[in-house]
Amino acid sequence: MKNISPDTQGHWGKFGGKFVSETLMCALEELSSAYNEAIKDKNFKQDLNNCLKQYAGRPTPLYYAERFSKKTGVRVYLKREDLLHTGAHKINNTIGQAFLAKRMGKKRLIAETGAGQHGVATATVAALLGMPCDVYMGEDDIKRQKLNVFKMKLLGTKVIPVKTGSKTLKDAINEALRDWVTNVKTTYYLLGSVVGPHPYPVIVRDFQSVIGEETKRQIRKLEGRLPDYVVACVGGGSNSMGMFYPFIKERKVKLIGVEAGGLGLASGKHGASLCKGTEGVLHGARTYILQDKDGQIASTHSVAPGLDYSGVGPEHAHLKQTGRTSYYTVKDKDAMDAFFMLSHLEGILPALESSHAIAWVKNFAINFKKNDLVVVNLSGRGDKDVDIVEDYINPVRN
Ligand SMILES: *Cc1c(COP(=O)(O)O)cnc(C)c1O
Repeated sequence: MKNISPDTQGHWGKFGGKFVSETLMCALEELSSAYNEAIKDKNFKQDLNNCLKQYAGRPTPLYYAERFSKKTGVRVYLKREDLLHTGAHKINNTIGQAFLAKRMGKKRLIAETGAGQHGVATATVAALLGMPCDVYMGEDDIKRQKLNVFKMKLLGTKVIPVKTGSKTLKDAINEALRDWVTNVKTTYYLLGSVVGPHPYPVIVRDFQSVIGEETKRQIRKLEGRLPDYVVACVGGGSNSMGMFYPFIKERKVKLIGVEAGGLGLASGKHGASLCKGTEGVLHGARTYILQDKDGQIASTHSVAPGLDYSGVGPEHAHLKQTGRTSYYTVKDKDAMDAFFMLSHLEGILPALESSHAIAWVKNFAINFKKNDLVVVNLSGRGDKDVDIVEDYINPVRN
């Protein structure tokens, strides 16, 4: 398979790259060489694997969802990332990058967060490694995500409100980049998805690839073969990239990414960067983004907080263009139905993000062949979303 790795400047075809200021160029170079050294170091890998096992709870089970399979008529396995410490795949990446920061001699962590999930995962590893941590978060997001803001505080992290722009994730990323430019000598910027300038999309993908590697081993053991479909939701694209990456060379395995269809594509209120976006530069990389005719970043909507982002990782853009992966959208309402269905049939409350992937299987069910084997990445647990679900059932009208 050609182009499975980007070139040295982080280009997958025309996507990716590093669109940043001079100061950050140096910081990104330093990060690239530190990362390339770290992954060759046996001790680094051993420490990381130990932490993933003892602290985060890896490997996660690959669970045959029998009642869900009966109902949909297709054999479905769930990769249980929801069972990890802090309840989602994000900890795979934050542990990896925090270990890297420590190895680089950095004294302080910073991060951006939208819904607060990445902020909590970063605050967790900051506490674990005893590093001070500041998390940038849009003022509007702070109001919407009180529980995660409180969790970060309990973990000893400072949450810095961002009052600029739309006061949401994209502005928080800009502020975090600004902090990094100023404090680059002492500070490590811990990015939360496979987005941003090179080498972040590679680093985050690699740290998340443990998902796909385990899945491959587990399904071979359970079924004696690889799956026909691998399905994951796509926000920035990290849980899906981590699941897809070890399968890219296995040409028979269909890779399905599911984006937030929000209130419907026609409404303009969605988060479907790959399905509906156009090419452009956002947060230091060339990729598909949601923008208007003048290049202004469009606002997004999804019932799933983690899918509410106007860009997507550049490797996904490339995989889409080469036709190796396929992307679909699922609307809020269908994701919500899938949430109820999995809760009732399997006793698992899925994150609303992961519910999009479940919903795709449910909607697509009539198209599967009799013995098709499907793996869905259950990126997180739904406990964090019960307030949103409650509002959905009982809308507060004022
Ligand atoms: C953050 C999050 C996502 C979306 O982010 P990706 O980088 O696309 O994986 C999906 N699921 C859960 C549970 C999340 O917390």
